[in-house]
Amino acid sequence: MLTVEEARERILAHFAPRESEEVPLTEALGRVLARDAIAHEELPPFANSAMDGYALRAEDTRGATAEMPARLRLVGEVPAGRVYAGTVQPGEVVRILTGAPLPAGADAVLQQELVTVAEDTVALAGEVSLGNNVRAAGEDVRPGALLVRAGTELGPAEIALLAALGLHPISVIRRPRVAILATGDELAPLGTQPRPGQIRESNSPYLAAAVTRAGAEPWSLGVAPDRADELRARLASADTADLILTSGGVSVGDYDLVKRILSEQGHMDFWRVAMRPGKPLAFGLLGTTPLLGLPGNPVSAAVTFELFGRPAIRRMLGCARVERPTVRAVLEGEDMPRGDRRHYVRARLRSRDGTLMARATGAQGSHLISSLQGAAGYLVIEEGEGMVCAGSVVPVLLLNDALPWDDA
Ligand code: AMP
Ligand code: MG
Repeated sequence: MLTVEEARERILAHFAPRESEEVPLTEALGRVLARDAIAHEELPPFANSAMDGYALRAEDTRGATAEMPARLRLVGEVPAGRVYAGTVQPGEVVRILTGAPLPAGADAVLQQELVTVAEDTVALAGEVSLGNNVRAAGEDVRPGALLVRAGTELGPAEIALLAALGLHPISVIRRPRVAILATGDELAPLGTQPRPGQIRESNSPYLAAAVTRAGAEPWSLGVAPDRADELRARLASADTADLILTSGGVSVGDYDLVKRILSEQGHMDFWRVAMRPGKPLAFGLLGTTPLLGLPGNPVSAAVTFELFGRPAIRRMLGCARVERPTVRAVLEGEDMPRGDRRHYVRARLRSRDGTLMARATGAQGSHLISSLQGAAGYLVIEEGEGMVCAGSVVPVLLLNDALPWDDA
């Protein structure tokens, strides 16, 4: 039996980053940056005022006090979006608004609340220091700075930074196309009425959602009955996919055809992976298209997608890190028995006085779809003897990146 890490390594060896495409920044949320984004400008692009007030020469205010205010001559105004044409001379001030470029000659801004203005004279009752209320050019970003590293998933903050530096449109990695096929005679597709003995099919809706969230584009191949010809035809139609995901048909039952067809038509490995849920897992190439055969039980399909499918997608996206973060949490609720395989337990997480606490979502049978809901992570219960008791610290694989996470 392979360990999870061995199986993942073998799978990832078949995936490389896809080609890039340009998208407008307005469509870049959640996309992965293809090349390092480097600043070609400075930010702020010019020295400007942080306040509504008066631009002046700091040295003109030397010695000013409430008793002996400095009196300076108001010679003009510069609103945001304009440039003051002249140069501020000794003894002069220019009215300035927030964001307006600092006029030539000026080196400080005094906010308007601190001056008294009478006709064209501005009186100030104290000294103003050099650079006061001035946002320096390049204070935020210098030309040549690395703004966002290739392989980063773009969020609102990255999009703002790229926009501020004019990096639009932007090169991101193309979304991989992931074909999804559910197999089983017992499955009634979404929107159809199950016949007696059938169940409603839920793995392909799950996988389509999870694939989208992983950053790829799902491509539904529908639901195939347990018939070799049907399966062959559906799989053949997906040869332009970057990855094919199937669910069901990989265990030892008589109708487990995925294995057979894939052995006939491609290069398949069938593995038993030392994990619970989800022991049977198939991986191989159908022609040149990688295929990951997930188990049919909904929880097994979900967990194996998370451990093997999502990292493959993240690798195709060129992500710096293909795995989700693992954190440590204190187990609460029931003690957990260890077993002969590593167990991934769906768990809720909460913070208690700043400590992360984890509790199983309930019964953990691999057919219990409701146990997936509310799970913020998988507790990793390593194989072994005895119990992991409430109060112990356990690793938790996070299922979203909502917790703060630092690579350093
Ligand atoms: P299999 O791996 O095909 O032996 O399926 C294992 C279990 O998962 C059986 O109880 C199936 O009915 C169930 N199952 C398989 N595929 C799906 C699916 N797409 N949606 C819901 N349940 C499924
Ligand atoms: Mg089946």
